[in-house]
Amino acid sequence: MLFRISTVLLILSALLPQAPRRSVSLVIKGGTVVTMDPAGRVLAPGALAIDGRDIVAVDTPENIDARFSGRESIDATGQIVMPGLINTHTHAPMVLYRGLADDLALMEWLQKYIFPAEAKTVTREFVRAGTRLAALEMIQSGTTTYADMYYFEEEVAKVTKEAGLRGVLGQTIIQFPVADAKTPAEALARTERFLAEFAHDDVIVPAIAPHSMYTLDTATLKAVRALADRTDAPVLIHLSETADEVKTSREKHRATPAQYLESIGFWGPRTLAAHGVWLSPADMMILARRHVGVSHNPESNMKLASGAAKVVGMRRAGVVVGLGTDGAASNNDLDMFEAMRQAAFLAKLQTNDPRAVPARTALEMATIDGARALGMEREVGSLEPGKRADAIAVAMTSARQTPMYDPLSHLVYTTRGDDVRTTIVNGRVLMRDRHVLTLDEAAVLAEARGVAGKVRAAVR
Ligand SMILES: [Zn+2]
Repeated sequence: MLFRISTVLLILSALLPQAPRRSVSLVIKGGTVVTMDPAGRVLAPGALAIDGRDIVAVDTPENIDARFSGRESIDATGQIVMPGLINTHTHAPMVLYRGLADDLALMEWLQKYIFPAEAKTVTREFVRAGTRLAALEMIQSGTTTYADMYYFEEEVAKVTKEAGLRGVLGQTIIQFPVADAKTPAEALARTERFLAEFAHDDVIVPAIAPHSMYTLDTATLKAVRALADRTDAPVLIHLSETADEVKTSREKHRATPAQYLESIGFWGPRTLAAHGVWLSPADMMILARRHVGVSHNPESNMKLASGAAKVVGMRRAGVVVGLGTDGAASNNDLDMFEAMRQAAFLAKLQTNDPRAVPARTALEMATIDGARALGMEREVGSLEPGKRADAIAVAMTSARQTPMYDPLSHLVYTTRGDDVRTTIVNGRVLMRDRHVLTLDEAAVLAEARGVAGKVRAAVR
């Protein structure tokens, strides 16, 4: 009898007129969808409908099938589909200095190796080749948005657009003469041109990147704030990275770096401070009050022995903390999965508490909180209808990932960048089944090796 009823229902449903399915540009189904939305939804299995640059639906495969037909589709069976990772602090072209000078503290590393190497080798061509290599690595390891601080940032922007990534790209302002500006005034002028050139871009958010309070004078820092207020551009700065920086600031200004910047009116909206390793509780209160986000860079901080940022304390004080890799010269890669894992491990070791920075928190820092820290939470950071389609699909079937009880645990504690199969930004597929579609991989690697030859000759 039961059989007969179901047969009748099947026949009836076939005879009834079906609501026409909406044609969309891309449907991804078959995998587990980790949304990172406010409810923390995980759909196993789940599916995603994308039209143009936007996510239009996140639902079960049956519901997506009933409502949408994709002109293109991706089968994510055995994979986790999740928001693309957001790297809140890097210096993309510095991938060309990967492994050039290791095992040194920040000031010695910067002053004896990095600044001199940059003085001899940074050119437009260097920046283009370096950004191409960095973009290739980011696409291959699941980063979809990154915040950058470097020179010739317009070249970084052009390559980032070609590669298809989303970038909050900061033109560096620093006190001493550098490759793209002889004075801070010149750097400010070129920054203003850069902000105008990429205003209202679909994937590039042009930004101002004053290097730090210890490499800039008060007048320039104030000029940066004035420019930011006038243009509404984000500001990216290094802050309290080392104990030395804080000590020097106390001697010179009788204030911590955060307090000094507060006293000159530097803090404002859409400002991101990288590192914050040595922030005091009072500093954290300033940043929370000024809505300044912090980029936590556990690997760089460990490698340069800068210290362990108080992530738990910052979050408790109301500071939004995103995650970053820093430049590849102090990491030495741009793998955000590794950054998540190290952020979790470092916090546990630092606090003697295994519950400090659990997997979900590490994932939040690499996705939605990174978006918040950059003021982009309405556009990216989670898989929700109406947001931009920045998503990745990550394979979960290797020996290292078997079995899987908890997708979040696997994403943080066993996954590597190389496990990413598909990378999508703004609805555009940048990598499909490990095949990067927007860059010629062999050409990018050959070009980078060519530049490395010049770097080697210059620093010898
Ligand atoms: Zn940095």
